[in-house]
Amino acid sequence: MTSQAFFIFLFQSARLPKEGETIHGHNFFIGFGGKGANQCVQAARLGAKTAMVAKVCTVTMSNCPSRVPSFVGQTSEAATGVASIIVNDAGENAIVIVAGANMMLNKEELQDALAAITSAKVLVCQLEISPQMSLRALRMAQENKVTTIFNPAPAIPDLDPDFYRLSDVFCCNESEAELLTGSSVNNVEEARCASRELLRRGCGAVIITLGAQGCVVLEAPESTSKHVPTTPVSAVDTTGAGDSFIGALAYYVAHYPAMRLEEVARRAGQVAAVSVQSMGAQSSYPHKRDLGAELF
Ligand code: AMP
Repeated sequence: MTSQAFFIFLFQSARLPKEGETIHGHNFFIGFGGKGANQCVQAARLGAKTAMVAKVCTVTMSNCPSRVPSFVGQTSEAATGVASIIVNDAGENAIVIVAGANMMLNKEELQDALAAITSAKVLVCQLEISPQMSLRALRMAQENKVTTIFNPAPAIPDLDPDFYRLSDVFCCNESEAELLTGSSVNNVEEARCASRELLRRGCGAVIITLGAQGCVVLEAPESTSKHVPTTPVSAVDTTGAGDSFIGALAYYVAHYPAMRLEEVARRAGQVAAVSVQSMGAQSSYPHKRDLGAELF
């Protein structure tokens, strides 16, 4: 995974504050995160052997978790990434991130991870490191026949077209699909249209996650997408659900290479549905032992 290491400050309040408003919250905790780090943790909890490529501030390095073999560079020129997350009683959230040191990951540091990337079964990239470094990592993987999963998050409107061609699986949520296609993506039908448009740009397959509605999967050369529903659950906090989905997706693609993508997405959706039933991102991710045998 070309990843991101972040400190997370999570606030729980009855509702999200309006612009200019201060409100009381009723819970707070500090944790670890970053999309890539979350995805890496979820894949590892299912049993994947994982490695992370990221960058943090030198002074905070000693506080970072080191449960996975990592290529975590250090810099004194930027702070470790931080995310401020507010979650309301409906489990909805609003998030501000400052990527900080992650954006300073450079090509030499990426090169240090070459052996890990090229010997992996799957590489997962996001956009919390610079787009150029993500592209470079995806190229390294593709040239070595490593399956690539790209998560265009946080979304940028002018995404380099090479990202599509370098993605075996292009996986995004509704708002990212909307920003990338310029069309609204609020329901399954609109997600089907968006998946056709994204596939047309050159990826091997597209998955658009739809929260409680599951996801839509479209694989080249098919022209009909599949809607994959998820288990209805009572959501407490959906923060990091998309990362749980992608981490699980990476695990299933790596461990069950012959499995149809639709089934991979169905299982990843079941894992992510567990994650929304407790607070936090990484803290809510299930281990293999917490899940039913039918998922393995
Ligand atoms: P999202 O990033 O919100 O699209 O969610 C990613 C995945 O998490 C979805 O495809 C679902 O599998 C799962 N998920 C998210 N929200 C819910 C929910 N309220 N109920 C059940 N599953 C959910």
